Amino acid sequence: MLAIGMLRGKSGVHTFDLSKPEIMQPDEVLVRVKEAGVDGTDFNMVRHNLQDIAEDRNEIVMGHEMVGVVEAVGSEVRSVAPGDTVVMTVRRGCGICQPCLHNQSDMCITGLYTERGIHKRDGFFTEFAVDQEQYVVKVPADLVKLAVFTEPLSIAEKGIEQIRLIQSRLPWACEHPDHSFLSADWGRCKTALVLGAGPLGILATALLRLAEVYTYVADIVPEDSPKVHLVKHMGANYIDARSKTPKEMVEFCCSPSGNLDIIFEASGAAATAIELINYMSRSSIYVMTGIPHEELVMQVDAAQLVRQIVRYNQVVVGSVNSNRRHFEMALKDIPAINSRFGGMLEEMITHRFKLQDYERIFAPTDQKHIKTVIEVEPWE
Ligand SMILES: [Zn+2]
Ligand SMILES: [Zn+2]
Repeated sequence: MLAIGMLRGKSGVHTFDLSKPEIMQPDEVLVRVKEAGVDGTDFNMVRHNLQDIAEDRNEIVMGHEMVGVVEAVGSEVRSVAPGDTVVMTVRRGCGICQPCLHNQSDMCITGLYTERGIHKRDGFFTEFAVDQEQYVVKVPADLVKLAVFTEPLSIAEKGIEQIRLIQSRLPWACEHPDHSFLSADWGRCKTALVLGAGPLGILATALLRLAEVYTYVADIVPEDSPKVHLVKHMGANYIDARSKTPKEMVEFCCSPSGNLDIIFEASGAAATAIELINYMSRSSIYVMTGIPHEELVMQVDAAQLVRQIVRYNQVVVGSVNSNRRHFEMALKDIPAINSRFGGMLEEMITHRFKLQDYERIFAPTDQKHIKTVIEVEPWE
């Protein structure tokens, strides 16, 4: 079967021919890949030649966002059957630490995990994949054509979940008792700034807007960009970060409410990300999800930063990856997002390719680019 990935010692992206995987254990599921999403991680792997290949291999199949159809199941599999549409999670736990032993490998504390398509394990830019039932999540029949968004949305779900869990320390975040961070109406009376209007920033904004959070999104694209159109379509406000300093951005966000409750970093722009900490509101939370790839050394007033974080009870938290539960949350929210924001998810897919187009998939993208999807096999 055809696969796209990286070859040890060679830069760029390559195709290779692999034998079709087979079910070897009674709890395994064989899936025919239908669509695979390409995201910033994949582009960065190619651009910066970030190879993370298993020791006993000379290649890695890329791709960690997928949707497919079950072709066969092992004798002990109960939750999915041939013909079901499914998505697969990305990380495979270390098998040692308590988070991994409790299906929370996204919180692995040994670092000995692997990740499909990223870290020492083959991914989904290919025709078939086999995995254990616990990593396979069934997709409701009416969501099949949007399910390629499950993995990226699960990343946003985890970030927002972290915010809500940690900020439940503030039951009186506003004057309304039913607006606490763990209540259904948690987003009311809250203001958020999302950094980066790439797919993750847009999906985080969708979740914030679903919860009625007053949301600003900052990026460095012009007002007429498709990204900005999506931001405004969700009822969020766009900030062109090219014309505002981090201080000015926060002052702008704080102008109606006086408080910026949430910063969601999804750009990986390290300097802006760090500088923004200086302007956090009291008791607010800052979740970082973007991963910078270049080295960047900057000067900070460390004493001032520590003083401020202590005196203002502030939280800066990182959030990476997601677990099965976040995939299930994403599958619940996909129809809500797409109906509330009229076909928004379809609109996010600006580029579609076949597996055979592997060289074009990673060509430099224009400012109109938001999301690339590889159509491995057409839906019937
Ligand atoms: Zn672990
Ligand atoms: Zn309120």
